[in-house]
Amino acid sequence: MASPVEIENGTIVGGFAHAQVFALADKIVDAVKSGAIKKFFVMAGCDGRMKSRSYYTEFAEKLPKDTVILTAGCAKYRYNKLELGDIGGIPRVLDAGQCNDSYSLAVIALKLKEIFEMNDINELPIAYNIAWYEQKAVIVLLALLSLGVKNIHLGPSLPAFLSPNVVNVLVENFGIAGIGTVDEDMKMFLG
Ligand code: SF4
Repeated sequence: MASPVEIENGTIVGGFAHAQVFALADKIVDAVKSGAIKKFFVMAGCDGRMKSRSYYTEFAEKLPKDTVILTAGCAKYRYNKLELGDIGGIPRVLDAGQCNDSYSLAVIALKLKEIFEMNDINELPIAYNIAWYEQKAVIVLLALLSLGVKNIHLGPSLPAFLSPNVVNVLVENFGIAGIGTVDEDMKMFLG
């Protein structure tokens, strides 16, 4: 076969694991306090070939300009080449790295909880709209649940291997839900 040929080129900004975000902490906290950043959206997780995953491109495009996406894993390939801009120099997509680096996102959330002196991680202005595909992502989800994170939305479909009983436990105790249309979900997340 012929050698692969380059199909695109350009640059993307990455490297926002917790150490780098902590270096920006004052700037981020000020932006939250001044209202320049209204909400963070964790749009981490997996990517796949299904057409329905274009949901995440459209969702990122339609997010208001005063929101910041926190990401790790392959889901970002759906939107990390869009021109989403920055908020006072803070990129609107803070990319911690691959899915294992979801650890960084959890550390960032815990740090924000500490800085804002909140008792519950769910009081933070963070919404979770996560794409999933494979087993490693399920471990990341379990880690979030162990931290007490609630109301996580998973898409584009819920894992088929979840039995009805397990789904009930996740829904009743953690408020886990799927996704709908981009417009419906945008309204729901921005409340
Ligand atoms: S679990 Fe696999 S598909 Fe999902 S984000 Fe990680 S490497 Fe990508």
